Amino acid sequence: ERKAALAAATGPGVTADGHKVPLLANVGGPADVPAAVEAGAEGVGLFRTEFLFLDDSKTAPSEEKQIAAYRQVLEAFPEGRVVVRVLDAGADKPLDFLTPADEPNPALGVRGLRTLLEHPEVLRTQLTALATAAEGLPVYLEVMAPMVADRSDAKAFADACREAGLHAKFGAMVEIPSAALRARSILQEVEFLSLGTNDLAQYTFAADRQVGAVSRLQDPWQPALLDLVALAAEAAKAEGKSCGVCGEAASDPLLACVLTGLGVTSLSMGAASIPYVRATLAKYTLAQCERAAAAARATDTADDARKAAQAVLSGE
Ligand code: PEP
Ligand code: MG
Repeated sequence: ERKAALAAATGPGVTADGHKVPLLANVGGPADVPAAVEAGAEGVGLFRTEFLFLDDSKTAPSEEKQIAAYRQVLEAFPEGRVVVRVLDAGADKPLDFLTPADEPNPALGVRGLRTLLEHPEVLRTQLTALATAAEGLPVYLEVMAPMVADRSDAKAFADACREAGLHAKFGAMVEIPSAALRARSILQEVEFLSLGTNDLAQYTFAADRQVGAVSRLQDPWQPALLDLVALAAEAAKAEGKSCGVCGEAASDPLLACVLTGLGVTSLSMGAASIPYVRATLAKYTLAQCERAAAAARATDTADDARKAAQAVLSGE
């Protein structure tokens, strides 16, 4: 029993009946890597590269500086997966030299991939730095773009990756409802999806993630959000591709089971949450997770969704 507990405390993410759900870490840079390794992360599911740009928000970091930082993270997960998100500037992550100062609604303005398509040299440097950093390493490098709205965004990003000579899988984050609704068309251009549930909730409920007064609407248990997750996961399954979650939703152990039941293929979260998610996932079968997901989606509020999933999983 002790052995089983230890394996559950360190092993890969898996349901009680053996359905694998890789548990990955969200990191902001090399400093976060030791905690991720310690927690037994199977790789990195979201490397937020913004941190490199925050030191000096007047210019982009040099290619050399980027190569060194990327390589440190990639080296920490030999044979593992590392999903790097290209710069997500704007809105809640403004950068002086890139973000327009005069937008009335920055969250609806030039941010994420939109910023990079307006500053292709910044994207190009980042992608070539990643290509150089990954050279000779056995890591499975995946690169994804934030704030992809439609197929043409996905194509522009994939084209930029190909032009930079990147040997990696290219993916799109699903953070805008349009991307979830048309996930299959986006998957004609890229090889994987990753749901950013923080922004997906913000845009689905028209509720600014930085405004506490509307935080009720940021609850990732909202059934409408679960519906969009299901749409994206089903589209990925139909295309034979993967669809992970890298927003805060993945760090709630019960919700992680529901996301698994919705068809999500990996979960990425802050390292501290990984042991709890691993232990909870190991208690239930995939069929139980699917029943919990269906029960949650059959409700009309976040609270009821949570209670419904809990009731199914506790066998009430
Ligand atoms: C998200 O939006 O859910 C996400 C993972 O990205 P960030 O929180 O960095 O915007
Ligand atoms: Mg986001």
